Amino acid sequence: MKFLVFIEQREGKIRKASLEALSLARKLSGGPAAAVLPGKGVTALANELGPYGAGVVYVADRDELALYSNKGYVGALDAAASKENPDAVLIAATAMGKDVAPRFAARRDVSVLADVMELRLEGDRLVGSRPVYSGKARAEVDCGAAKLQVATTRPNVFAAEAQAGGPPRVETLDLGDIAPRARVVEIQASESKELDVAEADVIVSGGRGIKGPENWPVIRGLQEALGAALGASRAVVDAGWIDHQHQVGQTGKVVSPTLYVACGISGAIQHLAGMGTSKVIVAINKDSEAPIFKVATYGIVGDLFPIVPELATAVRAAKAD
Ligand SMILES: Cc1cc2nc3c(=O)[nH]c(=O)nc-3n(C[C@H](O)[C@H](O)[C@H](O)COP(=O)(O)OP(=O)(O)OC[C@H]3O[C@@H](n4cnc5c(N)ncnc54)[C@H](O)[C@@H]3O)c2cc1C
Repeated sequence: MKFLVFIEQREGKIRKASLEALSLARKLSGGPAAAVLPGKGVTALANELGPYGAGVVYVADRDELALYSNKGYVGALDAAASKENPDAVLIAATAMGKDVAPRFAARRDVSVLADVMELRLEGDRLVGSRPVYSGKARAEVDCGAAKLQVATTRPNVFAAEAQAGGPPRVETLDLGDIAPRARVVEIQASESKELDVAEADVIVSGGRGIKGPENWPVIRGLQEALGAALGASRAVVDAGWIDHQHQVGQTGKVVSPTLYVACGISGAIQHLAGMGTSKVIVAINKDSEAPIFKVATYGIVGDLFPIVPELATAVRAAKAD
């Protein structure tokens, strides 16, 4: 079974979610996979993919690919697929991956197993499991009889595993004309230098239970002690207590951290849709009937205002030991 993995980089740094997809391809095929790496000045990054399972890296290194354009990046994937002729293509289900995958699949007239959280091989068929109905159920999906199978993998769910091994073979792709019809002129990074919840391994989130924006320092204390990102429910974002970039959930960001601490969040289905796959969930809520406790690994029933600072103190003490 031959896999080709789309590799995403941002400002010269390969995204972890792509390394997860690459490691998964190696695991499923039991050997090295092919990778495609589009961007500007990215050739030097190709060797970094070897330990994660790349046997060959198709590099599309062009000035026009400095910023994302779907024509250029999908074109690179398409060109690599024509050279490699894979049975399956894996793409991380990031914002970019969610744009690339359907466009590539449409070019090839095949479907996409979107946002899978499990992927296995049954003979030469990929079978994925993906959340449906806001995470209330999982659906098993496959690509039917399609010759080319395409799947996007949810970030932070699969392991990115580096192993010893030689550098990959690097091949340069000739893309021809990739002048985009729509051009990204500029990307404005958000001014805050805060850790993005979508990338974080630990998240501490606050909901309406914090009572008002003046109480963020209570949550920030634990967030900083844990070296975590700050998350939020939609209720507090809609109330203007914090910026939308922190929102976790169906209309916010989908996260799968190792640890998710929910403080004063009821656990509405739309919030669970964004964080229900976190590995360990700690919930602090004064209502013992709050739905968040149904998904929590550990629950503390009580008032967050004394509890969260105590937890922060305990974390700091444990780290100092
Ligand atoms: C189409 C749609 C999309 C949506 N998308 C999202 C989304 O992406 N993300 C999202 O989060 N929501 C989303 N929602 C909103 C969602 O339905 C809930 O309204 C929202 O998640 C509630 O936020 P909350 O838990 O902060 O507030 P509440 O539901 O009001 O819960 C506050 C909790 O705090 C507890 N509490 C109060 N005081 C304390 C205290 N002192 N100590 C401890 N606990 C305390 C209460 O017991 C309660 O459980 C969406 C809704 C719709 C209709």
